[in-house]
Amino acid sequence: MHNLSRLPRPLCSWQRSPNPGHSRSHGFPLTYRPSLPLGHRQPRNPIAPHGNPHPLGKSHGVFSYRHLAAHPMHGGFVLRSLGLAPAATDPAPGNDSVDVTYRFGSTQGGLRDPHHGVEFLNSFGTPVVAAGEGVVVVAGSDRDPISPPGDWPILFYGPYANFYGNLVVIEHSPPAALFALYPDLPTPLYTLYGHLSEVLVQVGQTVQAGQLIGRVGMSGVATGNHLHFEVRLGENTYKAAHNPELWLAPHTDAQGQPTGALAGRFLNTYQVSLEIEEIVLEYLPQGPEGESAFEIALRTYEEKALLGRPPFWESFGVGDLPAGLYRLTFPLNGLRREWITIYPGQITVVTFRK
Ligand SMILES: [Zn+2]
Repeated sequence: MHNLSRLPRPLCSWQRSPNPGHSRSHGFPLTYRPSLPLGHRQPRNPIAPHGNPHPLGKSHGVFSYRHLAAHPMHGGFVLRSLGLAPAATDPAPGNDSVDVTYRFGSTQGGLRDPHHGVEFLNSFGTPVVAAGEGVVVVAGSDRDPISPPGDWPILFYGPYANFYGNLVVIEHSPPAALFALYPDLPTPLYTLYGHLSEVLVQVGQTVQAGQLIGRVGMSGVATGNHLHFEVRLGENTYKAAHNPELWLAPHTDAQGQPTGALAGRFLNTYQVSLEIEEIVLEYLPQGPEGESAFEIALRTYEEKALLGRPPFWESFGVGDLPAGLYRLTFPLNGLRREWITIYPGQITVVTFRK
């Protein structure tokens, strides 16, 4: 995690309401838990059932629609999680699950810079392997500027010098089938591996998916050993980072089938992306009004420049969701509840209009 100390601020405005548990909007009780850390899962259903909603039924909001997008893997492009697959000499596989307290676009409750990647928490020396086939374009430290001498502003791979410490960046060439799915996909695609303790590849080297490229460490701006992983589209710059959760190959759920992902956005009447601070996603394995099995607190990316870019045009995104029925609750013209389905190995993309 990047140790960028800032003054803490309240997590959201509900917290400042004199009587937040009893205010009402459009007949729905507002029972958000404002003190939840981002990404925290809580066991109980905080939202009282109301009315007679139907899964996939029309909401009281206007002009919402949904469609299903193929996961990049259906275009023949698969990124393996980071991947912390075991190398031949390292029998123990690493942790390849995203740290949910600091998702892409999150400030971890105002404590850090908006995150341009995801973290995989692992111990020092855990092997890091290439997430896909490609060519190494960066291998070493990010202390030196990447902009030509004399240029202003001075550019680094991160927001400033020695942010990622030792890093590797691999350039990938997505296959034509992926452009058939996403014609507006910016290319090429890069994966970035930061805070490494060791870099084991050189610039210009071709690597295969699963090939050892380095080892986990905490070089650069990091408070502990972990792998910082980024997906960059179009150019190898800090601002070109996209949500890795929408690109990594899905894990399998408890039933052995691939998980799915959700990408969403909120638009005003001028088609501009809105920022929403309190989004609750509930997994409903027992039906639309059943008890939620788990809940995830989300919010739109906390940096405007990250909102609404191709190919998914999303403002928030989350992966590793067991397939099935979910309920999404968020404030937009009052408190809105929408039922959506997550499909195995697919990304459900939703757009909600004000
Ligand atoms: Zn990070």
